[in-house]
Amino acid sequence: MSKSLIADIVESFVEEHGGDDRDWIRVGCPWCGHENTSKRNMSVALKTGYFYCHRCQEKGFYKRSKAKEWYVPPVDNPLSEIPKPTITLPDEFQPLSERPVAGTDIRFWNYVTGRGVHPETIVDCGIGYCQFGFYRDCIVVPLWDGPNLSGFVARNIVDRSYRYQKGFKREISMFNKDRLWDDDPIVVVEGVFDALPHYPHTVAVLGKPSHEHKKLLASCRKRVYVMLDGDAKAESWALATLLRVGGVDAIYVPVAPGKDPGDASHEEFLQAIQQASNQP
Ligand SMILES: [Zn+2]
Repeated sequence: MSKSLIADIVESFVEEHGGDDRDWIRVGCPWCGHENTSKRNMSVALKTGYFYCHRCQEKGFYKRSKAKEWYVPPVDNPLSEIPKPTITLPDEFQPLSERPVAGTDIRFWNYVTGRGVHPETIVDCGIGYCQFGFYRDCIVVPLWDGPNLSGFVARNIVDRSYRYQKGFKREISMFNKDRLWDDDPIVVVEGVFDALPHYPHTVAVLGKPSHEHKKLLASCRKRVYVMLDGDAKAESWALATLLRVGGVDAIYVPVAPGKDPGDASHEEFLQAIQQASNQP
């Protein structure tokens, strides 16, 4: 695989979508053969040329094919320059695969797919599980910020409780955060299991939206659907209104009382969005 292919992919992405001012963009990964899907598994830092695929973990540096004034050439041994992550996945973490393989605890795979998560999404998001330790019986969903792990959500599949890592700051964490920076519409939901069945165009604020979440969403220059849980109707509507006042093309998407976006089939989810878009 030639690194100039990455350069070409990035050039055409930037030409089409802009992004010169962003720290990270997401493009399709040519290594795992997903360069032409909307999934964009690969984070690319435009200033340093560092790239990282969340799906196949391919990483490295590429040289931009055309010199741009903001282009900074990579240092001699760039991989050693990458800061060590401060947050890591639990020691007992095991990745789930697209299909259960020998040794996989099938309960976890059944739980995730039973929640309407597409098997490909499992791999794209790096979802895994812990059979032992503090996170025993937990599904673990990594929260990526560019190629860096900013935390993870651990959900116990037996008692349905959530477990959090020490020092985890929910109010500044977001599932699928990189999606804020491209120009595809996104749907803001509360929980990761509301977002995962409707991946990749969903971001989850991991509860009720915080002040920091609102600031981030207000910086979006694209359509933002707000679809919090059915019981948070007023909050959901208020967030869409706040964003609209700030100049964001935001649309409130109603959810029935007692229901969450994660309860909806993908078809029902798309229908709700379509209906909300058609409201005058
Ligand atoms: Zn890849």
